[in-house]
Amino acid sequence: MNRNIAFIGAGLMGSGMARCLIRKGFSVTLYNRTRAKAEEVAGAGGRVAGSAAEAVKDADVVVTMLADPAALLGVIEGEDGVVSAISPGTILIDSSTVSPPTTHRVLGLLKAKGADMLDAPVFGSKNEAEKGELGFIVGGDSAVLERARDVLEAMGRVNHIGGNGLGAHAKLAVNLVIAGTLQCFNEAMVLATKAGLDSDAMLKIILSSRARSGIIEMKAPQVMKRDFSPFFPLQLMAKDMRLVLESARSLGMELPMATTLSAGYEGCLTDGLGGEDFAATIKPLEQQAAVEVKEMS
Ligand code: NAP
Repeated sequence: MNRNIAFIGAGLMGSGMARCLIRKGFSVTLYNRTRAKAEEVAGAGGRVAGSAAEAVKDADVVVTMLADPAALLGVIEGEDGVVSAISPGTILIDSSTVSPPTTHRVLGLLKAKGADMLDAPVFGSKNEAEKGELGFIVGGDSAVLERARDVLEAMGRVNHIGGNGLGAHAKLAVNLVIAGTLQCFNEAMVLATKAGLDSDAMLKIILSSRARSGIIEMKAPQVMKRDFSPFFPLQLMAKDMRLVLESARSLGMELPMATTLSAGYEGCLTDGLGGEDFAATIKPLEQQAAVEVKEMS
């Protein structure tokens, strides 16, 4: 395969994605702010770099999987960052969920160095990252995508939806549907439990009706078992709701439900729930109603 990949960001998602590339025979150099996490992943057969610049200097393709716009911009344009060392012709695939203006800023910085970029945020969580079964929603030039397709397909399916920035827009739009659906589920379950309904029976009714959805199927078992260990940390969905509102503002729009959702997520952060899975958004509702939604048996 002889493709040198620089992988930047060994968090919940990035560690699985990088391990997947190593397993599939790519030569992977990892950089992570917290070095120990990169070293753990590199144990599967990669190398660890001491800076983003060192990681990208011999790379054909760079993959970034970072928390938010500030993290991405720090790694790209900070001291010893990607821009200081990337070579012309190198492709950067950014899979972080960031705002479209951030994507365009990174694109401009890379273009000035003769490098290319795809915005390729993902669907799926840490289990899919580990198995190479993520869904990439890609914004960027077709010719650039073809040069990086093997790397993306080693980690999941590719859906090319248009030019740079559209991948980022699409990802935020889907996360708005996910956050809204989960919030409706939370309110419905707390309401039903408060009214004296059996939680198991109520969940079965939802899942056998047209109200069922992928996100409810995924998150309901976590709520029912009271296991809020993070697959998608609540603080990251709070960030995404902020980015949805920023995106709407930049397009001259107001989104009433997203505004309410975002305020709820900020409240959860104040309550100290940021590190838990975003299924923990049910907790403030439960507290207010003095009930808990859980398995009865
Ligand atoms: P995570 O476990 O919190 O990892 C975040 C990564 O960003 C870590 O490598 C972290 O480094 C790095 N980072 C954070 N702040 C930084 C900074 N200021 N400078 C440099 N590096 C910084 O998050 P994740 O779950 O892997 O998510 C990564 C991205 O994928 C996010 O944009 C998220 O919205 C998106 N996403 C997540 C999921 C999911 O299910 N988890 C699904 C789809 C998309 P340290 O290790 O040093 O903290």
